[in-house]
Amino acid sequence: MSTPPAIRIENLAKRYAAPKGAKGEDAEGKLALNGVSFDVPEGSIFGLLGPNGAGKSTLINILAGIVNKTSGSANIWGFDIDEQRRNASRSIGIVPQEIVFDPFFTPYEVLENQGGFYGISGKDRRSEELLAAVRLADKRNAYARTLSGGMKRRLLVAKAMVHSPPILVLDEPTAGVDVELRRQLWELVKEMNQEGVTVVLTTHYLEEAEELCDEIAIINHGELIAHKPTRELVDMAREKIVAVTLAEDLGQAPAHEAFSKVELAGERGLEVTYNKDQLNAGQVLAILQEQGLTVEDVTTREADLEDVFVQLTGSGS
Ligand code: ADP
Ligand code: MG
Repeated sequence: MSTPPAIRIENLAKRYAAPKGAKGEDAEGKLALNGVSFDVPEGSIFGLLGPNGAGKSTLINILAGIVNKTSGSANIWGFDIDEQRRNASRSIGIVPQEIVFDPFFTPYEVLENQGGFYGISGKDRRSEELLAAVRLADKRNAYARTLSGGMKRRLLVAKAMVHSPPILVLDEPTAGVDVELRRQLWELVKEMNQEGVTVVLTTHYLEEAEELCDEIAIINHGELIAHKPTRELVDMAREKIVAVTLAEDLGQAPAHEAFSKVELAGERGLEVTYNKDQLNAGQVLAILQEQGLTVEDVTTREADLEDVFVQLTGSGS
């Protein structure tokens, strides 16, 4: 028997109202989500990947109850977001894309207030434990406005977990965050996941999705264009590159029908792109040798998510 999904999204669509006085195509309003369906498996780290404007925040904000969907359905931890909104909300903790805090509360107060909001009684509150988990115990009594951007982000993660939801959702947790802080947040996400929390994160960083996520859904212009285990998605990039250094100078790149692309890289360097379903690196080298070239050095580059993304969206970002 398979466990029910942590989140199930079916045919979800959102059309934002058009601004007053909009004409032509704009008068219909922006179709931000166009019939998106997927399941988030319980216990996974799930990545919702897509370029800016793809519809990621719209989807998250529908789950959060901040944006009203136009059609379709969403189910969180078995609770329908329309029929069982309260239970659905209690099952999910959301870290929004924008950081907003009252600057005059301390981290401890922020968490206590949130606990009060959820009606959690004093003895059942987890404020101290959560501050420690997000490495903010020493900032317990500092004003929120004195915290760095990274600390604020971590405080938001703690705030989202106050009611101990089984699902944590982070909307672009590392956008505009430096490398060091990004690593810290990744560690935090992995820790939470190891403790059993299902994590959904949106990102436009391929590297982040590849590093953290078990499964990835890619959306572009409001449509789901892929949803697969990360490994399989990476395997979808069929193009591979062999870079060689030759013993002789080359005037022009040698062409061959089996190669998808050949580019000169300096005087004696050559980069051959080929489809790994049709050739292997050894055959690429054999073809070069048949053409009278002497190969001195070879490296191959594995396909990564970036390649898949470009292939699927036809864009570079
Ligand atoms: P992402 O989070 O992937 O960057 P969003 O969900 O924020 O994408 O936006 C998807 C599309 O919907 C974009 O074209 C955006 O301009 C539009 N959009 C987002 N919020 C609103 C809104 N409140 N009113 C009208 N259009 C919006
Ligand atoms: Mg967004």
